[in-house]
Amino acid sequence: MTDARVFNVERFALDDGPGIRTVVFLQGCPLHCPWCSNPESQAVTDGWLRSVSGILDEVERDKDYYDASGGGVTFSGGEPLLQGAALLSLVEEARGRGMHTAVETTLIAERETVRSALPFVDLWLVDLKHTDAKVLKDVTGAEWNVFSGNLALLDPAKVVLRRPCIPGFNLEPEQMEDAFRFALEGGFRRMDLIPFHTLGAEKYRRMGRKYPYGDVPALDKKVLEPHKQRGLALGIDTRIL
Ligand code: SF4
Repeated sequence: MTDARVFNVERFALDDGPGIRTVVFLQGCPLHCPWCSNPESQAVTDGWLRSVSGILDEVERDKDYYDASGGGVTFSGGEPLLQGAALLSLVEEARGRGMHTAVETTLIAERETVRSALPFVDLWLVDLKHTDAKVLKDVTGAEWNVFSGNLALLDPAKVVLRRPCIPGFNLEPEQMEDAFRFALEGGFRRMDLIPFHTLGAEKYRRMGRKYPYGDVPALDKKVLEPHKQRGLALGIDTRIL
Protein backbone atom coordinates (compact mmCIF):
# COMPACT_ATOMS: atom_id res chain seq x y z
CA MET A 1 0.00 0.00 0.00
CA THR A 2 1.33 3.44 -0.90
CA ASP A 3 1.40 6.24 1.62
CA ALA A 4 1.66 9.98 1.06
CA ARG A 5 2.83 12.78 3.32
CA VAL A 6 0.05 15.32 3.47
CA PHE A 7 0.07 18.61 5.37
CA ASN A 8 -3.43 19.85 4.63
CA VAL A 9 -6.70 18.95 2.94
CA GLU A 10 -8.95 21.83 1.89
CA ARG A 11 -12.56 21.23 0.91
CA PHE A 12 -14.76 23.44 -1.28
CA ALA A 13 -11.84 25.17 -3.00
CA LEU A 14 -12.83 27.32 -5.99
CA ASP A 15 -9.51 28.61 -7.38
CA ASP A 16 -7.54 25.44 -8.04
CA GLY A 17 -9.14 24.08 -11.17
CA PRO A 18 -12.73 24.01 -12.45
CA GLY A 19 -15.78 23.66 -10.23
CA ILE A 20 -15.83 22.77 -6.56
CA ARG A 21 -12.72 20.88 -5.55
CA THR A 22 -10.85 19.34 -2.69
CA VAL A 23 -7.17 20.26 -2.59
CA VAL A 24 -4.75 17.76 -1.10
CA PHE A 25 -1.45 19.41 -0.14
CA LEU A 26 1.51 17.04 -0.31
CA GLN A 27 4.56 17.84 1.72
CA GLY A 28 8.04 18.55 0.43
CA CYS A 29 9.37 21.09 -2.06
CA PRO A 30 12.79 21.29 -3.74
CA LEU A 31 12.53 25.09 -4.06
CA HIS A 32 12.95 27.92 -1.58
CA CYS A 33 10.86 30.82 -2.85
CA PRO A 34 11.37 33.62 -0.31
CA TRP A 35 7.64 34.59 -0.47
CA CYS A 36 6.44 31.01 0.17
CA SER A 37 3.18 31.10 2.12
CA ASN A 38 3.42 27.42 3.09
CA PRO A 39 6.77 27.13 4.86
CA GLU A 40 5.50 24.02 6.63
CA SER A 41 5.32 22.35 3.22
CA GLN A 42 8.98 22.63 2.37
CA ALA A 43 10.57 19.96 4.57
CA VAL A 44 9.66 16.32 4.04
CA THR A 45 10.06 15.24 7.63
CA ASP A 46 7.05 16.12 9.72
CA GLY A 47 4.13 15.49 7.38
CA TRP A 48 1.11 13.45 8.17
CA LEU A 49 1.63 10.00 6.61
CA ARG A 50 -1.63 8.68 5.19
CA SER A 51 -2.62 5.86 2.86
CA VAL A 52 -3.60 6.79 -0.67
CA SER A 53 -6.95 5.05 -0.34
CA GLY A 54 -7.61 6.78 3.01
CA ILE A 55 -6.95 10.18 1.44
CA LEU A 56 -9.23 9.40 -1.49
CA ASP A 57 -11.97 8.05 0.78
CA GLU A 58 -12.01 11.49 2.40
CA VAL A 59 -11.90 13.31 -0.94
CA GLU A 60 -14.65 11.16 -2.40
CA ARG A 61 -17.13 12.25 0.27
CA ASP A 62 -17.76 15.43 -1.71
CA LYS A 63 -18.07 13.67 -5.07
CA ASP A 64 -21.68 14.82 -5.50
CA TYR A 65 -20.47 18.42 -5.37
CA TYR A 66 -17.73 17.70 -7.91
CA ASP A 67 -20.17 16.02 -10.26
CA ALA A 68 -22.69 18.85 -9.97
CA SER A 69 -20.11 21.62 -10.52
CA GLY A 70 -17.61 20.03 -12.91
CA GLY A 71 -15.07 19.89 -10.09
CA GLY A 72 -12.80 17.23 -8.69
CA VAL A 73 -9.57 16.81 -6.77
CA THR A 74 -6.39 18.89 -7.01
CA PHE A 75 -3.03 17.74 -5.70
CA SER A 76 -0.86 20.63 -4.60
CA GLY A 77 2.06 21.23 -2.27
CA GLY A 78 4.87 21.90 -1.65
CA GLU A 79 5.65 20.16 -4.89
CA PRO A 80 3.35 17.15 -5.30
CA LEU A 81 5.57 15.48 -7.92
CA LEU A 82 8.32 15.17 -5.33
CA GLN A 83 6.44 12.23 -3.79
CA GLY A 84 6.37 10.61 -7.20
CA ALA A 85 5.09 7.11 -6.38
CA ALA A 86 2.41 8.44 -4.03
CA LEU A 87 1.25 11.08 -6.49
CA LEU A 88 1.00 8.52 -9.27
CA SER A 89 -1.13 6.26 -7.08
CA LEU A 90 -3.31 9.21 -6.07
CA VAL A 91 -4.08 10.40 -9.58
CA GLU A 92 -4.58 6.90 -10.93
CA GLU A 93 -6.91 5.89 -8.13
CA ALA A 94 -8.79 9.22 -8.19
CA ARG A 95 -9.41 8.70 -11.90
CA GLY A 96 -10.48 5.15 -11.20
CA ARG A 97 -13.07 6.55 -8.80
CA GLY A 98 -14.41 8.80 -11.54
CA MET A 99 -12.97 12.09 -10.32
CA HIS A 100 -11.49 14.91 -12.42
CA THR A 101 -7.82 15.29 -11.45
CA ALA A 102 -5.60 18.38 -11.38
CA VAL A 103 -2.00 18.77 -10.28
CA GLU A 104 -0.62 22.12 -9.19
CA THR A 105 3.12 22.00 -9.77
CA THR A 106 6.43 23.77 -10.36
CA LEU A 107 7.40 20.91 -12.73
CA ILE A 108 10.73 20.69 -10.93
CA ALA A 109 10.59 16.92 -10.84
CA GLU A 110 11.89 13.73 -12.45
CA ARG A 111 10.96 13.55 -16.13
CA GLU A 112 9.74 9.97 -15.66
CA THR A 113 7.32 10.98 -12.90
CA VAL A 114 5.71 13.58 -15.15
CA ARG A 115 5.55 11.15 -18.05
CA SER A 116 3.96 8.44 -15.92
CA ALA A 117 1.33 10.84 -14.56
CA LEU A 118 0.22 12.09 -18.00
CA PRO A 119 -2.59 9.56 -18.59
CA PHE A 120 -4.19 10.27 -15.21
CA VAL A 121 -4.09 14.07 -14.99
CA ASP A 122 -6.89 16.11 -16.57
CA LEU A 123 -5.41 19.51 -15.82
CA TRP A 124 -1.96 20.82 -14.97
CA LEU A 125 -1.72 24.07 -13.01
CA VAL A 126 1.86 25.05 -13.76
CA ASP A 127 3.82 27.77 -11.97
CA LEU A 128 5.47 30.25 -14.31
CA LYS A 129 7.42 32.25 -11.77
CA HIS A 130 9.98 33.92 -14.01
CA THR A 131 11.26 33.52 -17.55
CA ASP A 132 14.89 34.44 -16.87
CA ALA A 133 16.73 31.22 -16.05
CA LYS A 134 19.35 32.91 -13.87
CA VAL A 135 16.88 34.93 -11.81
CA LEU A 136 14.67 31.87 -11.41
CA LYS A 137 17.58 29.77 -10.20
CA ASP A 138 19.07 32.43 -7.94
CA VAL A 139 15.83 33.34 -6.20
CA THR A 140 13.86 30.07 -6.09
CA GLY A 141 16.41 27.33 -6.81
CA ALA A 142 14.42 26.12 -9.83
CA GLU A 143 16.26 24.95 -12.96
CA TRP A 144 14.72 26.40 -16.10
CA ASN A 145 15.81 23.40 -18.21
CA VAL A 146 14.04 20.97 -15.90
CA PHE A 147 10.92 23.13 -15.92
CA SER A 148 10.82 23.65 -19.69
CA GLY A 149 11.72 20.04 -20.46
CA ASN A 150 8.84 18.77 -18.36
CA LEU A 151 6.47 21.41 -19.68
CA ALA A 152 7.19 20.20 -23.22
CA LEU A 153 5.69 16.83 -22.26
CA LEU A 154 2.30 18.34 -21.49
CA ASP A 155 -0.59 18.97 -23.85
CA PRO A 156 -1.00 22.79 -23.81
CA ALA A 157 -4.79 22.36 -23.87
CA LYS A 158 -4.53 20.71 -20.46
CA VAL A 159 -2.36 23.44 -18.92
CA VAL A 160 -3.17 26.60 -17.00
CA LEU A 161 -0.07 28.70 -16.38
CA ARG A 162 -0.09 30.27 -12.93
CA ARG A 163 1.84 33.37 -12.23
CA PRO A 164 2.50 34.21 -8.59
CA CYS A 165 2.77 38.00 -8.87
CA ILE A 166 5.52 39.02 -6.48
CA PRO A 167 6.57 42.63 -5.87
CA GLY A 168 10.24 43.19 -6.69
CA PHE A 169 10.51 39.86 -8.48
CA ASN A 170 8.35 39.50 -11.57
CA LEU A 171 5.96 42.43 -11.89
CA GLU A 172 7.92 44.65 -14.26
CA PRO A 173 6.09 45.13 -17.58
CA GLU A 174 8.98 43.56 -19.54
CA GLN A 175 8.91 40.45 -17.37
CA MET A 176 5.14 40.12 -17.67
CA GLU A 177 5.43 40.63 -21.41
CA ASP A 178 8.01 37.86 -21.54
CA ALA A 179 5.68 35.56 -19.66
CA PHE A 180 2.86 36.24 -22.12
CA ARG A 181 5.23 35.72 -25.06
CA PHE A 182 6.35 32.42 -23.54
CA ALA A 183 2.72 31.36 -23.20
CA LEU A 184 1.88 32.25 -26.79
CA GLU A 185 4.94 30.50 -28.20
CA GLY A 186 4.11 27.34 -26.28
CA GLY A 187 0.45 27.37 -27.33
CA PHE A 188 -0.78 28.00 -23.77
CA ARG A 189 -4.02 29.91 -23.82
CA ARG A 190 -4.79 30.48 -20.16
CA MET A 191 -2.87 32.28 -17.44
CA ASP A 192 -3.94 32.92 -13.86
CA LEU A 193 -2.36 35.87 -12.05
CA ILE A 194 -2.07 35.23 -8.32
CA PRO A 195 -1.45 38.37 -6.26
CA PHE A 196 1.13 38.16 -3.50
CA HIS A 197 -0.56 37.81 -0.10
CA THR A 198 0.73 37.77 3.44
CA LEU A 199 -1.27 34.82 4.79
CA GLY A 200 1.92 32.86 5.48
CA ALA A 201 3.46 35.45 7.82
CA GLU A 202 1.92 34.01 10.96
CA LYS A 203 3.18 30.52 10.09
CA TYR A 204 6.78 31.80 9.97
CA ARG A 205 6.32 33.41 13.35
CA ARG A 206 4.98 30.17 14.86
CA MET A 207 7.87 28.22 13.32
CA GLY A 208 10.38 30.71 14.73
CA ARG A 209 11.55 31.60 11.23
CA LYS A 210 12.07 35.04 9.77
CA TYR A 211 9.72 35.78 6.86
CA PRO A 212 11.75 37.49 4.13
CA TYR A 213 8.56 39.12 2.82
CA GLY A 214 7.35 40.13 6.25
CA ASP A 215 7.49 43.85 5.42
CA VAL A 216 5.88 43.58 1.99
CA PRO A 217 2.17 44.45 1.92
CA ALA A 218 -0.31 42.24 0.10
CA LEU A 219 -0.67 43.14 -3.56
CA ASP A 220 -3.84 44.98 -4.52
CA LYS A 221 -5.59 43.13 -7.35
CA LYS A 222 -6.04 46.47 -9.10
CA VAL A 223 -2.28 46.55 -9.76
CA LEU A 224 -2.70 43.46 -11.92
CA GLU A 225 -5.58 44.76 -13.99
CA PRO A 226 -3.36 46.27 -16.76
CA HIS A 227 -1.48 42.96 -16.99
CA LYS A 228 -4.75 41.10 -17.27
CA GLN A 229 -5.91 43.42 -20.05
CA ARG A 230 -2.60 42.97 -21.87
CA GLY A 231 -2.91 39.18 -21.67
CA LEU A 232 -6.48 39.30 -22.94
CA ALA A 233 -5.45 41.58 -25.83
CA LEU A 234 -2.90 38.96 -26.82
CA GLY A 235 -5.58 36.28 -26.89
CA ILE A 236 -4.64 34.64 -23.57
CA ASP A 237 -7.52 33.93 -21.21
CA THR A 238 -5.98 35.87 -18.32
CA ARG A 239 -7.65 35.90 -14.91
CA ILE A 240 -6.78 37.42 -11.56
CA LEU A 241 -7.42 34.99 -8.71
S1 SF4 B 1 7.37 26.26 -5.04
FE1 SF4 B 1 5.62 26.81 -3.74
S2 SF4 B 1 5.81 25.48 -1.93
FE2 SF4 B 1 7.78 25.46 -2.97
S3 SF4 B 1 8.99 27.02 -1.94
FE3 SF4 B 1 8.04 27.96 -3.75
S4 SF4 B 1 6.14 28.85 -3.03
FE4 SF4 B 1 6.82 27.40 -1.44
